[in-house]
Amino acid sequence: MNHLEELLNKFSEIPRSIVLKADLLRKGIKLTPILKEIGTWSRPQTHGVFELDHQDLHTKDDATEGWVTIPCECAFPDGTNTMLPLDNKSPYEITGEDRKYMLYLGENPIEEVIFPSRPRWYTKRTSHGTLMGTVARQCGDCISATVLNHCEYFNTGDACTFCCMNPTTDRSRELGMDRTIGRNIDDFIETYTEASASKETCHLTLTGGGFTNRKKEADLYIASSRNRVGEF
Ligand code: SF4
Repeated sequence: MNHLEELLNKFSEIPRSIVLKADLLRKGIKLTPILKEIGTWSRPQTHGVFELDHQDLHTKDDATEGWVTIPCECAFPDGTNTMLPLDNKSPYEITGEDRKYMLYLGENPIEEVIFPSRPRWYTKRTSHGTLMGTVARQCGDCISATVLNHCEYFNTGDACTFCCMNPTTDRSRELGMDRTIGRNIDDFIETYTEASASKETCHLTLTGGGFTNRKKEADLYIASSRNRVGEF
């Protein structure tokens, strides 16, 4: 019995796809050439908030202005989405071709996986020339935008222990990706407008770093969401 079967037996009241997702997030997935091919057309890793990989496997050759050409997520046939953190020690890997793929655990096929196509709006630009894929990203049916790519709590030693916001921003810049700390409000509005026109999206989240001055932080979020959030 492999470790996944042990988990499925132990948590038999939980849907299989959720147990599989939890294990995949914990163990990660091997970086194989097929992931680099899928990353050229599917939703890529934008590192918009956190880089989730367990190992730093990217080079500048993998990175563009907006993202790393590795898929950030896939879905199981029941619709469950999962992120794909890279880890070359993982027993999981993806094989397949022609947009038909299978998740393997060692030698064993586990589940079909589906990669969504990269949204067209990712490659459009705002009137300020900003690549929309650097302003927001799509996760499942959610549009997520980072209002502030920096958190002042790292400066005071008070950052949340799970968080890698500032190191992600620094590393993304090293790779040559655009990681502007605070976006122009027009960039948000134009990107939301373009992204929300897609039938694939139905809700929006604003996320990001923080200011130790809470009023200053709240004012930034209010300005970013004004006029547009109610229209989603
Ligand atoms: S406040 Fe937000 S951005 Fe700052 S350390 Fe915590 S989770 Fe990260």
